[in-house]
Amino acid sequence: MNNEASELDIKELLTRQKQFYDEDRTRSVEYRRVMLTRLRDALQSREAEIMEALRLDLNKSELEAYSTEIGIVLEEIRHICKRLARWAKPRKVRTALTHTGSKGMIVPEPYGTVLIIAPWNYPFQLAISPLVGAIAAGNTVVLKPSELTPSVSAILKSILAEVFQEEHVAVVEGGVEVSTKLLKCKFDYIFFTGSVNVGRIVMEAAAKHLTPVTLELGGKSPCIVHEDANLVLAARRIVFGKFTNAGQTCVAPDYLWVHKNVKEQLLQEMRHVIRDFYGEHPLSHPDYGRIVSRRHFDRLVMFLQDGQVVLGGRSDEGSLKIEPTVLDQITWDMPVMQEEIFGPVFPVLEYEDLEELIARVRSHPKPLALYLFSQSKAIQNQVISSLSFGGGTINDTLMHLATPYLPFGGVGDSGMGSYHGLESFKTFSHEKSVLYQTTRFDFTFRYPSSKNALRII
Ligand code: NAD
Repeated sequence: MNNEASELDIKELLTRQKQFYDEDRTRSVEYRRVMLTRLRDALQSREAEIMEALRLDLNKSELEAYSTEIGIVLEEIRHICKRLARWAKPRKVRTALTHTGSKGMIVPEPYGTVLIIAPWNYPFQLAISPLVGAIAAGNTVVLKPSELTPSVSAILKSILAEVFQEEHVAVVEGGVEVSTKLLKCKFDYIFFTGSVNVGRIVMEAAAKHLTPVTLELGGKSPCIVHEDANLVLAARRIVFGKFTNAGQTCVAPDYLWVHKNVKEQLLQEMRHVIRDFYGEHPLSHPDYGRIVSRRHFDRLVMFLQDGQVVLGGRSDEGSLKIEPTVLDQITWDMPVMQEEIFGPVFPVLEYEDLEELIARVRSHPKPLALYLFSQSKAIQNQVISSLSFGGGTINDTLMHLATPYLPFGGVGDSGMGSYHGLESFKTFSHEKSVLYQTTRFDFTFRYPSSKNALRII
């Protein structure tokens, strides 16, 4: 299917996918495993092309492309293939006393035909990772990659066409128009990753067909550094989390909240780390990422007027790069604090009283991630138990996302539902409850005008 897929093309594709699904081939767990293995082999054999596409679209280095995109996906496939047969088996559960003699079973079944809409910031990982879950659960899939990363979109289309027939997995390329046409159709499940505003549009469209959704959205994720933190380690891990992919990471620390007593020392450490990672001139460092589009670049450059630049601050229109930048003297009413930054601009706030900080975070929408640097168990427990957020890491950044053992997803405005590992399988499966009733005896007290409680048949 070409870029300009019409509504008719899409409907016809969906009909073919539904026919394929009804042939029951994807019901076989072995078939799913074989297809996932073929997908893994194809990704491995075309790794260089994927890296090249990521370099072209976002200037991702090979190290970054592997560790944050390709490696994560290969690990996800390995993890799921190893456990799939066990997860897919019907599970016996206990029954209540009133159900004596019967047997309860939970039977996972695929939803059917799934729509996956992917964003541009990790255009490979955020397309393939949900796809792996949907295939593992036995669905057919229509994948729409982001139009802002055309090289990755093209390589995804080519690889997936090599592995799957279109009736099983199809890539439909395009932007808002194509997305809108897709959303008009009735899918059995929609998995969306992107902004909060588009998340609302997706949910509204899904509601028309009563289609269940997972929404992986964004938000302003705080990074808190308490006065007892190991500052050398904190600086390195925060700089890594904030400036990887030039800050265009949904779970990047959005702003820094540092205890007044350690602020200067932390900023000093961060200055050293930024120089270590990206040199004296990050704008010309070959491995420092670029901003995805002119529109996003202009939006980010506006933020450089807020507060006072204490680190970085330069930008280059030609290459769409902005230096790793730290802003001090920030207040909540400034534009940089009004929306998710999604770029290499890092505002700093200081605090003295943790209770006040907690109250402030609570007054904002629930973030996708939260990071806390503190050695104290009591402080860690206080923050975790009093604040709601999608997921987070204590004494590091981003890493909770990179393990298939932890469900990944948002809460409140940062999204609903989760995936990765077992959670991906569950997300794309309906859990059918089945009660096998005994025919050896019958509890007759539930029947109208019953005289005996039990009748042996
Ligand atoms: P976006 O919402 O603009 O676009 C995401 C997808 O939706 C794209 O494929 C796009 O073509 C499509 N789309 C855009 N406008 C649409 C419309 N009006 N109707 C239907 N479809 C439409 O998001 P983005 O700019 O690609 O990504 C950035 C956002 O995504 C940030 O807010 C970030 O936090 C969030 N994000 C979240 C996660 C997560 O896992 N929770 C991961 C990455 C990005």
